[in-house]
Amino acid sequence: MKSKNKTIQVLLTHYREIATLGSISRVLDWDLNVNLPEKAAVERGEQSAYLTGLTADKWQSADFQRNLEKAAQLIQKLTHEEQAIVRNLAWSSNYYTKIPKELLIEHSKVCSEGFLGWRKAREQNDFAVFEPYLSRIVEISRMFAQHLGYEKDPYDALLNLYEQNMTVSQLDPIFNQIIGFLTPFLKNYSDRKSKTDYLAYVNNDKNYPIARQKNLVLFIIKKMGYDIRAGRMDESAHPFTLPLGRFDVRITNRYKPHDLRESIAIGMHEAGHALYEQGVDETYAYTPLDSGVSLGIHESQSRFWENQIGKSTAFLSFLTPVLQAYFPEALSDCTTEELFELFNHVEPSLIRTEADEVTYNLHIALRYELEKGIINGKIKVKDLPKKWNEGMKSLLGVEPKSDSEGILQDVHWSYGAIGYFPTYTLGNLYSAQFTNKMQKELDIINLSGNGDLGTILVWLRDNIHRYGSLYWPDELCQKITGEPLNPKYFIEYIKNKY
Ligand code: MG
Repeated sequence: MKSKNKTIQVLLTHYREIATLGSISRVLDWDLNVNLPEKAAVERGEQSAYLTGLTADKWQSADFQRNLEKAAQLIQKLTHEEQAIVRNLAWSSNYYTKIPKELLIEHSKVCSEGFLGWRKAREQNDFAVFEPYLSRIVEISRMFAQHLGYEKDPYDALLNLYEQNMTVSQLDPIFNQIIGFLTPFLKNYSDRKSKTDYLAYVNNDKNYPIARQKNLVLFIIKKMGYDIRAGRMDESAHPFTLPLGRFDVRITNRYKPHDLRESIAIGMHEAGHALYEQGVDETYAYTPLDSGVSLGIHESQSRFWENQIGKSTAFLSFLTPVLQAYFPEALSDCTTEELFELFNHVEPSLIRTEADEVTYNLHIALRYELEKGIINGKIKVKDLPKKWNEGMKSLLGVEPKSDSEGILQDVHWSYGAIGYFPTYTLGNLYSAQFTNKMQKELDIINLSGNGDLGTILVWLRDNIHRYGSLYWPDELCQKITGEPLNPKYFIEYIKNKY
């Protein structure tokens, strides 16, 4: 990207190096999650920490900071894109200029080791193995909040790392509204629903060979428009999407031999994230406008494909003969109605990533309460398993029998991501709100019923993807839908579908 403004051009040239360092460290992260041998953990931690140090140096460079201040003073004279560049640089820069470099390096190291600590704890089914790592991560996160600053709640500072302009005072009422709706809705729904014959399609005597599942998922995500020549799909315990470069946006998946739902849902979810990255205006590459704007908006893209499309009657009717061709032994007499019930089966369960749309946000509500608690010091790290189990019981009516199916199920805390979980719920809410708008302009049912996902992707590209980080989430939501984030669209969506 070229700018006529000299200061902006200098900033962009400098930022290109930062972006390159970011790409390199994501190569290491991808490898850590997909391939790394156990013994290599400490070494990898050091490698990543070294890159973090170099990145921090680049952000903290006195010249760069001077130019950024200079640009901030000329802001009125800049174009819309240039203004967004300065705003984004200032926002990212905070992390590196307000938090001491030594703390950033330590954080990076603790998180690499923490990931392995988490993995070991999960294998041994023992939170105590992870506790010392997590305690340190929480301690560092609390220091981060102090350095970054906040108005009301230290958790706001962490939340803001993932979702610009979001605060506890905005989120608390949103979660209260969602919980207030979902809890009675779930109770009524479970009372109404008696027949679950369709679950026979995922009994242990049904087989969905993994190689075929993989091919099927590749078929679906290519249909969605995922450019496999600028990406790849690997396996990992906790699936994710990672942009290693402008033309290297990778995803991972996982497979269950007796149940085909998970790999399809994860594949569409991660490809949804990847499409966002692949769809950003190419001229934004290596600038602060590149990449999806926030985790909440990112998650709206993944959840849209996973749920609004992937689990709709229309798309499942398109998919029925395809599934039957891939798995004739298991699905030859299966109907679209049964598939719809199967893919949208509602049941309070222990694992968030496997949760249905009705119960999903209750898992997040619990994480949100626990995260606020450990950051505010109202909850002790060692009490988390107990608090977790109590929360699961009161919100979902189920109780884990072990740490692995409870507090240890998610990887996020191990890599220091505290303040991240609420963005999952934000994603669901944005997704419902954006879909409401999209269906006024597109016949989504007809398009997905015919497998014409390209037209849907074009809408997303035009309205969301191409902008990258040009608009912040609140601005983008306003621009797309004409109003701020409103949970009523999600509530309506759930009521209509279930
Ligand atoms: Mg996601």
